[in-house]
Parts: sequence; structure tokens; C-alpha cells
Amino acid sequence: MRKLVSAGEILVEIMAERIGQSFLEPGPLLGPYPSGAPAIFIGQAAALGQPAGLIGAVGDDDFGRLNIDRLRALGADVSAIAVHTGHATGTAFVTYRADASRHFVFNIRNSASGLIETDAAATNLLACADHVHVMGSSLFSDRAIAVALSAIETVKAKGGTVSFDPNIRREIMQASGMRAALDHVLARADIFLPSGEELFLFSSAKDEKGAADELLARGLSCIVLKKGAAGAVYHDHHGAVASSGFAVDEVDPTGAGDCFGAAFVSFWLRGAAPAEALRIANACGALAVTRKGPMEGIFPLEAVEAFIATGNTQ
Ligand code: ADP
Repeated sequence: MRKLVSAGEILVEIMAERIGQSFLEPGPLLGPYPSGAPAIFIGQAAALGQPAGLIGAVGDDDFGRLNIDRLRALGADVSAIAVHTGHATGTAFVTYRADASRHFVFNIRNSASGLIETDAAATNLLACADHVHVMGSSLFSDRAIAVALSAIETVKAKGGTVSFDPNIRREIMQASGMRAALDHVLARADIFLPSGEELFLFSSAKDEKGAADELLARGLSCIVLKKGAAGAVYHDHHGAVASSGFAVDEVDPTGAGDCFGAAFVSFWLRGAAPAEALRIANACGALAVTRKGPMEGIFPLEAVEAFIATGNTQ
């Protein structure tokens, strides 16, 4: 099977227990939960049986061990996660607002994640990789951008493929070259996985079909537009395939897009038809929102298939 690699931020999430809870005063917290968009993605892919590994860095601390242990338990290759003494593992504190938006306090660039590099272990992992997935949030510093771009070039040079999820997190995406890097990654991508309005950040068109056509003409193989509870729509040069979401009670939306993307890319790599890849991806996205914590809703393929067999579409 083809091997999937991603590179980027690894952190723990600590969640305010109450909706609208302020971080300006003490309050009840939940967590730590293992997190970081590329870590969630690689964890979900591995849980589905996809060979998958992550390039990143953690501190020599409990939060780092929590992440590595979880990824290993899910079946991911953790050989290229560097463990640094002297730097703590990254953190994200999140509070949910009444309008369902999220407020984050991130510490990524100044954490161990900021030390990400293409070291010997990362080079070894990339030597056996066939596909690279890039998260926009992983382009959080010039150094992280360099790692992502070199992973893309290594894999492309041997005929591999690239997927890209803009995963815009304005709180952390402040690298000077970030916009140019987003455009560069998109230009090298085969699969583009925007969520909602992110589609229009890369196109001058005003409607979904216009934007999809414009982006496909620039060289993408396909675009998968994530639409929250409504599911997703796949676009390629032959047309579009829409797939309804599954009806679930959402308790925490964080991680849904990453789990969805991991499932779609894993099944695309296996040669699945778009409708089948979308069905598995919608199921993984739906299961992700049923648990508090970004990686707590990751399930193995058998459980995802059982959910699909009993699950109701919207
Ligand atoms: P992102 O997390 O990247 O913003 P979405 O919110 O669109 O992306 O969620 C990604 C996918 O997860 C959706 O396309 C859908 O399959 C699934 N999903 C998200 N929220 C729900 C929900 N409330 N109910 C069912 N499925 C959901």
C-alpha cells in the first residue's frame, strides 16, 4: 500500500468546560487531549489501515509522550517525531462560543513544534513515502514552510502525489511567506480539501462550480469541498459527486475536517471511487464530532463500517 506522510504541529488541546468561558479568569478545563491538525490526520489514516507517518517535534514531557503514545497506538509511524529537551510540547487552549465559533490560545512556534526540521529520521520517512498531505496550519513559520515544501518536492520527484487542506487558523499562520506558501502548495497539489468559504480564498469565482472549474484548470486532479453536517461535494474534470453527511449529535467540531480528509485521501490512494471515498470520509467526520477532544473520535475501519451500516444520512 502507498505510504502517506504529513509534517507539522503536534500539541495538546485543553478545552474550557463551559460555553463562552473566558481564559482571563480561572475556570474548569478538560484535557489534555492529543492534537495538531497533521497529527489528527495521520492518526485517522493509520486507524483506517493506511501506512502513515508524521514529521514533527515534541518536548521530552508528558504532553509529548501523550501524543506519541496515541499515534503509535493508532498504528502510525512515529519514527520522525523528534523529542527535544529544553522545549515544551505545543499547546492550544480552546473555548467554544455560543455561536459555535472557537477562540484559541496557541503556543506552537515557541514550543518544540517550532523546531521541526527535515532531519535524518524525516529524510528516511520521506524516502518511503508516496503521498504528502499538507495542512495550511502547518505553515506556521518559515522553518515549518521549508519542511513542507521539501517534503512535497521529495515525493513529487519520484512520481508521488500531494493533498492540501488550507485549514486556515489565523492565530498561528503569521509566517512572512505564508500566503506565498499556501499558493505554492496548491499549485503542487493533486487533491484540494477546502472547508466552506476556504474555496474562495484561492479563486476569483463567486460560486462553487466556477471556483472548482477555475482550480481544476490550474492542474488539480480533484477538489473535495467539506460542508459540515451537510457532508461534502467532490469535483473533478468529469463533473461533481455530492454526498450527504451522517446525522449525529455534535459535541465538539474540532478534528472533523482532518478525520474527513484522512479518510478521503486514504481511500483515494487505494483507488476507491469518489462516492465510496466520500462515504467513508463523511462517516469519519461525523464520528469525530461525537467526542470531546480532536482525536477521541478516531475509530478503526471496522467501527467506521459498522457506523455506516447503521448510520442515518442527513
Ligand atoms: P472543517 O473541520 O475542516 O472545518 P467541516 O466542518 O466541513 O470541516 O467538517 C468536515 C466533515 O466532517 C464534513 O464534510 C462532514 O462529513 C463531517 N461533519 C462535520 N460536522 C458534522 C456534523 N455536525 N454532523 C455530521 N457530520 C459532520
